[in-house]
Amino acid sequence: MGDLDTGWAVPTDFPETGWTPESIDQHLAQARAEIPAWNDPQQTRLGFAMAAPHPQAVRTLGDWSALNTNNVGVHTRFGEGKTGTRRLEKEALAALAGLYRAGALDGHLTSGASEATLAALRIARNLLRGAGHRVRVITSDLCHASVGKAAEILDLDLVRLPAGPTWTLTLDQVRQAAADAIAEDVTGIIVVATAGYYNSGFADPVDAIAAHLRDLAFQHPEKVRFFLHVDAAHGGFVFPFTAPDLPFDFRNPGVHSMAVDPHKAGLMPYSCGALLVRKGLLEHVTRIDPHTRIPDETVLGSRPGAMAAALWATLHTLGRTGYTTLATRCLEHRDQLAAAIQAADPDALLVPAPNAPVVSAAFSHPGGQLPPELCERYRLVPLTLPAPEKDGERRLFYHFYASASLTEPQITAFAGHLAGATAAARTAAARTAGPADGAGRSITSDVVADTRTHTDCFRHFVVHPEARRDPDVPGYSFHTFTQRRATDEQIQDIPFGQARAGGPLWVYAPDLKDPFANELFGVRTDHYFLEVLDRHQQQLSLVGAIHATILLPGTLRVLLNFESDGAFRSAEYKALGEHGADELQIFPDAITAKIGKHAAGFRRPRSDDYSFSIDTSAEITVRRTDGDGPPTVVTARHNADVLLPRRPHLRREQFRRFPNRFFDAEVDIEAGRAWTGAAYLPELLAPTPVGTVLAARSATAELCTVDGRITDAGLHLALTPLAEPRTDALELAATWDLGLRLHDALPRLDVQDPARLSIEQVVEFAESVHEVFTRTGLPAGLAIAGARP
Ligand SMILES: *Cc1c(COP(=O)(O)O)cnc(C)c1O
Repeated sequence: MGDLDTGWAVPTDFPETGWTPESIDQHLAQARAEIPAWNDPQQTRLGFAMAAPHPQAVRTLGDWSALNTNNVGVHTRFGEGKTGTRRLEKEALAALAGLYRAGALDGHLTSGASEATLAALRIARNLLRGAGHRVRVITSDLCHASVGKAAEILDLDLVRLPAGPTWTLTLDQVRQAAADAIAEDVTGIIVVATAGYYNSGFADPVDAIAAHLRDLAFQHPEKVRFFLHVDAAHGGFVFPFTAPDLPFDFRNPGVHSMAVDPHKAGLMPYSCGALLVRKGLLEHVTRIDPHTRIPDETVLGSRPGAMAAALWATLHTLGRTGYTTLATRCLEHRDQLAAAIQAADPDALLVPAPNAPVVSAAFSHPGGQLPPELCERYRLVPLTLPAPEKDGERRLFYHFYASASLTEPQITAFAGHLAGATAAARTAAARTAGPADGAGRSITSDVVADTRTHTDCFRHFVVHPEARRDPDVPGYSFHTFTQRRATDEQIQDIPFGQARAGGPLWVYAPDLKDPFANELFGVRTDHYFLEVLDRHQQQLSLVGAIHATILLPGTLRVLLNFESDGAFRSAEYKALGEHGADELQIFPDAITAKIGKHAAGFRRPRSDDYSFSIDTSAEITVRRTDGDGPPTVVTARHNADVLLPRRPHLRREQFRRFPNRFFDAEVDIEAGRAWTGAAYLPELLAPTPVGTVLAARSATAELCTVDGRITDAGLHLALTPLAEPRTDALELAATWDLGLRLHDALPRLDVQDPARLSIEQVVEFAESVHEVFTRTGLPAGLAIAGARP
């Protein structure tokens, strides 16, 4: 259940005094143990271009950090960069200018290629707009995300050309896109070409593109202007050593700027990138500091001089021969990876990058997906691309990098894991392709299909994967589920007589021959459904071992939760709005109001993992304690401003761990059971960071203020909508005795050992829960934001 503590960053106490060296070391050692070693044979970052930095780089960076020099600004011009780390930056950039066959260059170190591309496009935008052009960026759809980010920051029109079977921009594409732009009177054209796509390792035909754009510029000087930026983040420390004649750089007079990333194949630690730009262009971004009169052309401010020293030292430690030896070994490792893939799947389509240590592969089994565990272990991210030489047939490709840190034991371990995974995928495919058994059979019964429309419980359509149903298995968690379809497990149901309140009664379970052994067993009537979880599910559940949803007409929903020993745990009353619900959760000794709660389960893309998120605008809990203490605020956090448009917490790609929780405001109050009187929320909250006005986005009242009081009788909240025209406040209120009454009145069923239960016993329990709840559970003192059964 390791997932539970990875919620979100709530404030902790700032350390009052320094920790002891021992406790500092211990804490750091724990975090360090979470990071796999570069040579760990069990975990390799094959999907990303990452490598251990060169020891000389690490040493110099460490030593020179103590000097803490600031390389703010640009040091590549005459008279500048004369001393210290500024001189070392100028010398390192001069060495790169030599590597990339430039004349004299300007440039500066950056935090990485993203910043370098942003800085380059800023220069291009200013110079083109300054000359009166409408500006557009043209690039490949496969470009790195940093290009789109730069265009967004700089507010530039961006055209992404679709990737064809060459996986690169083609000259024809660029020619056409430039002609289209000019026809639309967009005459300031920025082209971003890539030398070493981060996914495939391929390089655009930079020379042909540069020559064409330069021809056009000569034909229409003044009318049309082009700026060509090369993103060589990946290729910049590869191609000069694997393919010295590949003309991707400044040897083309039409190339204006380059982004390179010494922290990728250059063996520098993060964050070390560089912008290189032809002379006379940086001045388009010069800003003079009004106070110091110092000019600056960079995007950021202060920069570490130590990084310049470390880069200079690394370039001069390795030199061309050192980098060539490394790059050659990487290409050999790439070929060993390719051989391992071929051995695991002889029919895989292999696409090694020309001159770069990346091989892409599309696997031969249907769909071509690799299992999530393998992708997690090797950090693999697939991408659908047109297969080269196959006339545009789109396949799922995985990309494998041979970084300088990859070892032969790692390649051998990967070969074994991959062979197992692809063999299993082929066997599974052969099984499903076998004779159809009971064609047209539904995944679940109609009863369950109907149940599903009334519940958020996604156990109805997903199950924990076989052999991983025991919470003691390492890695077992809330979010490892597979589709029932994949395990062939359906939910079975049978009619089980008449319900006391009328209509048929059904029971359902994945396997009715062994009804309590497998995820859940359920009882369903026209009025409710109730489910008992199996032993494993009970351990994983955050809200008890039995759940019952009472079906009521209107917009009120009620969910009852019971502990495994049979005790009532909580009743959740929900007023449904268009997005989410306003809720009152009633416990025997507490009431929690959840205003604007939105819970969603998501299948993570390209995996069988599920995760979910709970995003609540305001959560207000009042807990009763011993004694007669008046209500006191234990926690009051103001996390987000509801007056600003807020995006829902984390979008689906980002759901990784359960639980993902988010609150605009959290209030936790304690009050003594023996206390009498009334306390008002604004007064209680006035001294806290929430302040006197608690605002929330309610599911039923939209943007509203939350006012209210706590009394010896219960909690009473009023939600006043802020939209015009003003309408009446909605109430969210319950009395203390409701939880106690439910606790005392509802029947109990001990389900700690589900194997000993009988269907009859659970049906009897379910029927009496429904009966008692309808009598006790909807008292007059309950108000739920306008929802009425
Ligand atoms: C890695 C990479 C980038 C981004 O570089 P950062 O150093 O992460 O800013 C940009 N383009 C390509 C092609 C890359 O491989």
